[in-house]
Amino acid sequence: MASERWPFPMPTALSTSNTATHQGPAPRTAPETAIVVNVSDITDNPLPYAERLEHRDGDSIDLVVIHCTELPDLETAREYGERIMYPESATGNSGHFYIGRSGRIEQWVPLNRVAHHVRGYNERSVGIELVNRGRHPEWFDSRCQVMTEPYPLAQLNSLIGLVLLLKHELPGLTRISGHENLDRSLVAATDKPELLVYRKKDPGPLFPWKELLPVVGLEMLTP
Ligand SMILES: [Zn+2]
Repeated sequence: MASERWPFPMPTALSTSNTATHQGPAPRTAPETAIVVNVSDITDNPLPYAERLEHRDGDSIDLVVIHCTELPDLETAREYGERIMYPESATGNSGHFYIGRSGRIEQWVPLNRVAHHVRGYNERSVGIELVNRGRHPEWFDSRCQVMTEPYPLAQLNSLIGLVLLLKHELPGLTRISGHENLDRSLVAATDKPELLVYRKKDPGPLFPWKELLPVVGLEMLTP
């Protein structure tokens, strides 16, 4: 199973230890527990349609996109992820990885499949979804546009470890961004259709980009 989930050539260091560790001095701002995630720490939980998603090579991946689910829990996110949204291919919308508030990591889509998680950037990117309520359940109500749930440290630690592991697996991975940076489209507010609100605001203002960026060593993509 591991070869299907992680289908790309592994660097020598990884093929022996199967572990991603931060190169060089440990950053002072990051807890020591933040920086190691093993492939074996990730629960494989493929979506029913995962094998129907478009195939791709690892060379085409240069970007990680951070999301939050804007849903109450992982179970609800799964229900949304399993919904068939594209009848022609019988597939739906999801990230590749989901990280719960406790730091538990699940993989729903193999890296060699294109997941539908961000308009215009799917082919080149890996989508990571953090469980967080966001604006749920009134996503587009003009009075509910503030995202108030903080990201727990355990969840952020797992995210850092996962991104470092992905960097080892995918030599072309150099960039990172948030969904809100890549999709700036507006929609009519549900309470006042004459008002416009952002369709995507995740991961939102409580996501700690300033702390994360130097630890993961990826360049921020802001088109
Ligand atoms: Zn998103």
